[in-house]
Amino acid sequence: MKVKITQIQKKNQKFSFALKRSDCQRVEDRYHFDKIDCLAELTKNHEQVQVKGSYKVVISSFCDQCLGEISQTRESQFQLFLLPESAAKNDLDDREITLSELDIDYFAGLEIDLGGYFEDQVILDTPLVQVCSENCAGICNQCGVNLNFKQCDCRNQGLNNPFRSLRKNTDNLI
Ligand SMILES: [Zn+2]
Ligand SMILES: [Zn+2]
Repeated sequence: MKVKITQIQKKNQKFSFALKRSDCQRVEDRYHFDKIDCLAELTKNHEQVQVKGSYKVVISSFCDQCLGEISQTRESQFQLFLLPESAAKNDLDDREITLSELDIDYFAGLEIDLGGYFEDQVILDTPLVQVCSENCAGICNQCGVNLNFKQCDCRNQGLNNPFRSLRKNTDNLI
């Protein structure tokens, strides 16, 4: 979604659009979604463009502990300030202290590609480790059973006993 700077004429001018998965090159492959519904409200103040963004996406991924599928709807909001690249050089000296570094970005030329900022935000909002629930029991590292659905006896059988498999074989013989 590209917006020409001259297109921004009034305060909180709204642009709504959907980003398809194929538009998002930087989101990792392990996150699956069809689209991100985006709403941007732009306000121009001299050279600076304020972006108030909100988005909604349904993301499918896998739990890092039990490998089970996770489907979650995420709705989030963010705000950032865009400045033309030409302002970047002068900016270091007279930047307003109230704006944090993270909230400022720069654009080149006379248009803003809004999609990239939403993609960035989805990446920022995605935790590095994803679990299906806070109480996820994970998988047994001995037998591979998903402990959320099944119990196994591995813990009771003495994990560090080197004769465990031997004993099992003898049991079978008898
Ligand atoms: Zn899990
Ligand atoms: Zn087990």
